[in-house]
Amino acid sequence: MTAQRAHRPAELAAWDPEVASIIGREEERQRTTLQLIASENFTSPAVLAATGSVLTNKYAEGYPSRRYYGGNHVVDQVEDLARRRLRELLGAEHANVQPHSGSNANAAAYLALLEPGDTVLAMRLDQGGHLTHGSPVNFSGRLFRFVSYGVSASDERIDLDQVEELALRERPKLIVAGATAYPRLIDPAPFRAIADRVGAAFLFDAAHVIGLILGGAHPNPVPEADVVSFTTHKTLRGPRGGALVCRASLARDIDRAVFPGLQGGPLLHAIAAKAVAFGEAARPSFASYASQVVANARALAEALAGEGLRLVSGGTDNHLVLVDLRSFDPDLSGKEAQEVLDRAGITCNRNQVPGDPRSAFVTSGLRLGSPACTTLGMGEAEMHLVAGLVARALRLRDREREVAAVAEEVAVLCSKFPPPGAGGGSP
Ligand SMILES: *Cc1c(COP(=O)(O)O)cnc(C)c1O
Repeated sequence: MTAQRAHRPAELAAWDPEVASIIGREEERQRTTLQLIASENFTSPAVLAATGSVLTNKYAEGYPSRRYYGGNHVVDQVEDLARRRLRELLGAEHANVQPHSGSNANAAAYLALLEPGDTVLAMRLDQGGHLTHGSPVNFSGRLFRFVSYGVSASDERIDLDQVEELALRERPKLIVAGATAYPRLIDPAPFRAIADRVGAAFLFDAAHVIGLILGGAHPNPVPEADVVSFTTHKTLRGPRGGALVCRASLARDIDRAVFPGLQGGPLLHAIAAKAVAFGEAARPSFASYASQVVANARALAEALAGEGLRLVSGGTDNHLVLVDLRSFDPDLSGKEAQEVLDRAGITCNRNQVPGDPRSAFVTSGLRLGSPACTTLGMGEAEMHLVAGLVARALRLRDREREVAAVAEEVAVLCSKFPPPGAGGGSP
């Protein structure tokens, strides 16, 4: 704890005790409860330090050596370093590290590849797709004509026959692969083949799995995709943000879409932290991390199934599991399960399952992920323990003392695996 505190400006507590105290309490929450949200992680102290650096003071609209402001000769080096590290990691021809988030990265890809009203084929939201894949309440669904594919009812895996059928019928200008709540490996090759059949561009949204790709646990989509978008804060374990890589032929369009198309000045402090995260991802220890993330998710899946919980698609190939609560207890919604687990010190999110009869606000499912607890050094043995605690809290949810007893066991477990910089578990 003290080491991570040291990266927080020492002045903060004296200058603004109100904000400092909120940050302190959040630090404590992260340290004493289990973080099973599949899109969250713990950054290294080095990533935190870069994020909190004076680079936040600099305006740098434009790109290295082509800026609209003076005084950029130093920060140019950090953006160049980040771009080079990213290109080398993925074997990509071009990289853009300026998107403020994964959603912005997708917006930039659409802006570069599409005109308003164009047809796009992407995964259905209630079957694992993301808001930016055509939700009617999102800019994507309002500006473009999205057509959706889903998972097949028999095995709950992406229905590639449906992808092809829809592509041939709708002739999309762009096909998007990638998901936010899908527990299986997404192979880019069949999407490329279908895109080629109909002359569509292919965007691989690797927001969730980029860390697994960089760690060698999942296939690299760069050879197949025209553009790859991703977040830097999920399995990649970097600062909150996004990035894009693309073919050299699209470099100019992608860069112009990010700036001036979509954003103003880049967040250089975040870009420096992205460079640190890319450096960390190049180390052999990151490959071990990625394979342990997958092994832990598998162990969690097996143990949850052993507790009588049904898993969508029967298991997982990546960092997350999707639990369908209906067979466990038809009266238990995802919303109630999430609330019970919160009281038990287990943080996760409710999620619709394919064909969910409940609304997106209530849901019949839970999404649980292994990236954050794997960063803390937990292994398969701990995943078995966690699955037992999850099931116990859900089963005994009406008895407050039992839920409190689970919370106590969670606190004991967490005390053995402190966050990076908090006295152990360096990533
Ligand atoms: C998380 C996610 C995004 C968006 O990332 P934000 O940084 O939250 O904007 C985009 N696509 C997919 C598939 C995601 O899972």
